[in-house]
Amino acid sequence: MWTDPGSLKNDLQAEAQRLGFSLFGVTAPVAPPHFAVFEDWLSAGRQGEMRYLASAKARFLRADPRRIMMPSCQSILVLGMRYPRPAPYRAGTGEPGRGRVAAYACGEDYHLVIPPRLAELAERLETIAGRPVACRSYTDTGAILEHDYAQLAGLGWTAKNTCLISPGQGSYFLLAELLVDLEIQPDPPFIPERCGTCRRCIEACPTHCILSNRTLDAPRCISYQTIENKGVIPLEIRSQMGNLVFGCDICQQVCPWNHFAPDENEPLFNPRPGLPEPVLREELHLSQADFSRRFKNSPIKRARRAGYLRNVAVALGNQRDPAALPDLAWIMENEPEVIVRAHAAWAMGEIGGSSAAKMLDQASKEEEDPGVSAEINLARQRVSFPGSHPGSPAS
Ligand code: SF4
Ligand code: SF4
Repeated sequence: MWTDPGSLKNDLQAEAQRLGFSLFGVTAPVAPPHFAVFEDWLSAGRQGEMRYLASAKARFLRADPRRIMMPSCQSILVLGMRYPRPAPYRAGTGEPGRGRVAAYACGEDYHLVIPPRLAELAERLETIAGRPVACRSYTDTGAILEHDYAQLAGLGWTAKNTCLISPGQGSYFLLAELLVDLEIQPDPPFIPERCGTCRRCIEACPTHCILSNRTLDAPRCISYQTIENKGVIPLEIRSQMGNLVFGCDICQQVCPWNHFAPDENEPLFNPRPGLPEPVLREELHLSQADFSRRFKNSPIKRARRAGYLRNVAVALGNQRDPAALPDLAWIMENEPEVIVRAHAAWAMGEIGGSSAAKMLDQASKEEEDPGVSAEINLARQRVSFPGSHPGSPAS
């Protein structure tokens, strides 16, 4: 039976580190300090298509962590697991012919890696405490404002780029929480604000979607568009996406707090072969079976094949390499997903030239979907009148 509160916490922290959590802190289940900011964000519709965030139930639960089916909660353990630090940001469309995947998404899906570790930590807690402990765990999965609890648990501050930054650790980690019915000595909250006068992330964001109250206008964020949006990407965002085909790290890559962060990370998050810079023309030919095999247990599955190939087509358009035209024309002829054909047409219009014009004419004769036909017509206009950017097509 455990008697010394300090010793319990030390044992628990050592166990968390053994399980790969490089950040560990404890706080009480108080109301989240920035709940009003979150409510304002929802009221302004900044959540885009992520409507589940705005449901009455989700709002009710987020207001008090004990409502998350854990009325007996006495402490919240907040943990962070590091993933590999990406290369420094270079403006432009990236390596010719290559896309770019956000660093957290290059290895195993954290939704599969972290929960078993939390379960092990909970087991260890019961052993140390000498009694059954009711637990509930979260890995970006529940109605909990995790940055608030991380800050209350002393791990860092919510920065201007909306990430949690931990001094000495930077922001390349994934947060998780364990709610327990055991009183554990809380850590002092992290009070200072260390962004100071820096604005690097705000200035580097390609779509200028970072708001002054440390929230994002999600529908303009490339992470949102390449992952959560399953439909048409707005024209003005496409040209800002560069070679990004799943997520975006730019506002973290430019952050000075990440330049000195440690290189150690959870090995399961190391990039799979071909990532983080997939060969775009090869990705464009992934069948559903190829996609499922290649991205089994990967976060990239969240975009689904159609969303991923749509993003690949946009990246090819931004790179403007005529060598990609036959691949895009193949898509126009053979791809069953409307959304992929629509963005392939846009990409051909961006690449331009007489070959693109001929291929678009051919696609125009064969296309039956009105939305894709509209994209083809806009692309033909851009090819005929380079530099023109006609209005948005029907989605
Ligand atoms: Fe901007 Fe990219 Fe950061 Fe989104 S993830 S806020 S698009 S820099
Ligand atoms: Fe804060 Fe500067 Fe980092 Fe942005 S780049 S999060 S302003 S320190």
